[in-house]
Amino acid sequence: MSFELLELPALSRFTVDRREPLRGDAERVAQLWPKARVITVDAHGRTLVADQASRLVDRPATEFGDGPPDDAVLLGEQDGVAYWAMPPADETDVAAPSGRAWSRPELTDEPQWLDLRSCGALLDDTGAGLFTSAVALFHWHRSAKFCAVCGGGTESAKSGWARVCSQCGREEYPRTDAAVICLVHDGADRVLLARGEGWPAGRYSVLAGFVEAGESLEACVAREISEEVGVEVGDIRYLGSQPWPFPRSLMIGFQAVADPDEPLRLADGEIAQAKWVSRADVRQALEVPGSVPDLLLAPGASIAYRMIQSWAAVN
Ligand SMILES: [Zn+2]
Repeated sequence: MSFELLELPALSRFTVDRREPLRGDAERVAQLWPKARVITVDAHGRTLVADQASRLVDRPATEFGDGPPDDAVLLGEQDGVAYWAMPPADETDVAAPSGRAWSRPELTDEPQWLDLRSCGALLDDTGAGLFTSAVALFHWHRSAKFCAVCGGGTESAKSGWARVCSQCGREEYPRTDAAVICLVHDGADRVLLARGEGWPAGRYSVLAGFVEAGESLEACVAREISEEVGVEVGDIRYLGSQPWPFPRSLMIGFQAVADPDEPLRLADGEIAQAKWVSRADVRQALEVPGSVPDLLLAPGASIAYRMIQSWAAVN
């Protein structure tokens, strides 16, 4: 028994044309600026959202100057409207967020500052895609201020999609780290879920890990599951992927089958608990969070949520 994702993962939605050739076209960029829209993303990865976090609050680009400032990034263009993101004018003014990344935000109709984990699944398709790319780009810009070869300072180029070394001229592009995430099931009606060390009590998800240098995705799936819970998996199949810019992962989702009679051996210091859970319990926990003892599932913005939801829907 295998399954497919019911819908795209929340952060894989992107409806605006990315327009890669536009990024280096200064003349066309300048033409588009007067009608362009800008979202602001602060140092804590939050942006302003409205209407119960269903849409981004953007502002006319002309409020930010006669042309794109150096730290602006071009997210894409649709119907003659270019979409940009910028950091706030003064980052030192930004108050630290209250509450944990895991907690559900209190939603209002008034504009409010929320991070991508909190509101990624609530935003409309266009908003989710724009915000995800903006967060990924700003994480990269903050960590790429110096050339990896000569140590010289770098400057943003190509509308925020490259950085150029001021000493040796080397160009660097936004980096992405590949990570696999795998829903392990028994081929029937049970799924293997695990709780990482340091996670809130009762929180469980599917297993995940970073792809190592020189490793294939399939080999990574088998290795990670063997290391984390000590079981061998077979029938590894691709499910789908989603960007996870915290700070720069691409989650590549798989399903695999394991034998629930095999004893679980948990990785010390990494996995606190792991257990086989019935489809009925997963359905109940999705429907009414908190209604199944010791089973709180992954948040809606994660690909884990979409994977678990899609497996649970199989008849
Ligand atoms: Zn350099």
